[in-house]
Amino acid sequence: MLFSEIIGQQNIIKSLIKTVAENRVAHAQLFYGNQGHGKLALALAYAQFISCRSENKFQNEDSCGTCPSCVKYNKLIHPDLHFIYPVAESKLLKAKEKASSKAYIKQWREMLIENNYHVSLNDWYTKLDIERKQAGINTKDCSSIIHTLSYTSYESEYKIMIIWMIEKLNYQAAPKLLKILEEPPEKTVFLLIAEQTDLIIATILSRLHLIKIPKIDNQSLTQACINELGLDEKSATNLVYLANGSFKKANRIHHQFQNRQDNFNLFVKWMRACYLPDVKIILQTCDKLGKENREQAKNFLKFGIEALRNCLMIGINQENIVRIIEQEREFYTKFSPFVNTANISSFNEEFNKAIFHIERNVNGNMVFVDLSLTISKLMRIKETNLT
Ligand SMILES: [Zn+2]
Repeated sequence: MLFSEIIGQQNIIKSLIKTVAENRVAHAQLFYGNQGHGKLALALAYAQFISCRSENKFQNEDSCGTCPSCVKYNKLIHPDLHFIYPVAESKLLKAKEKASSKAYIKQWREMLIENNYHVSLNDWYTKLDIERKQAGINTKDCSSIIHTLSYTSYESEYKIMIIWMIEKLNYQAAPKLLKILEEPPEKTVFLLIAEQTDLIIATILSRLHLIKIPKIDNQSLTQACINELGLDEKSATNLVYLANGSFKKANRIHHQFQNRQDNFNLFVKWMRACYLPDVKIILQTCDKLGKENREQAKNFLKFGIEALRNCLMIGINQENIVRIIEQEREFYTKFSPFVNTANISSFNEEFNKAIFHIERNVNGNMVFVDLSLTISKLMRIKETNLT
């Protein structure tokens, strides 16, 4: 990670470079701030800069990216770069293997590189397929720090230990870590990362040099949305307005919107096929939906429930009480004659039943084929005149 790859944060970067130039790198630093401000990316760029061997790094105000140290940093495999993060038991462990940062280093590197170093605890839990409440920075990892750092550094002057989400430190593990922070081995730098300082054990917090990582400035964030998400300037500006200084949030909103558009397009195709009915298209669509992962399939069905409700509301002239995205309006209006007070509760029931089956791992393809046949019948139920 080069400083030039960081989104915004120019002031922080300047002050970090200065600490290296003036040879006053604090041995234990905490980078804290909200999700998506780039804390971990900054810590990594800082670590890489400390270790970079280029003579021009101060003049260029960045690591060179090409020296042997930088090359290993790019792949996160530098022997003097160590990571600790929250872990829990998972299916990924080998038999009798205990959960530790070391055991999951492959998944960790993958996640960082896949997400361009903008990662959240949720991303991590998803990657390991573990429950949020169980994960923590454990005693095994904290005990291993002394061992890991007791060797002289292999290639760099400094050994660097990045501890991610220190607020997840298990209470039992705290004394081990505290002891190391109080009596740190020579030439080691601890870079700790947290979202909230008030959740950090006080004795640990008091040992750290605090660096607040602020929101990303709007201009840098807009540029990142244009470059990395491929948006035009107007869409990027709108997105930045919603993202509140967080690239992670901008990214998430962008993908949710894309995902919604994908859901909408597929839903339109599916409903048309159910109406005709076009068995070939129905089977193709169900095959596609059946291959989605559980969360995506559920997400699609929930979108379907919302879409049908929108059709009903348009049909009974109650459009003002639902939020309809402009691009979707035409379809809902055309489709509204097929959703009415006589069939809406059956539609809801059938979609919820499908969600229930998907959650219980019933074959996705089968669930969607069944649902398609039911939809095809339900569409033909006409509004009954109650008067
Ligand atoms: Zn370098």
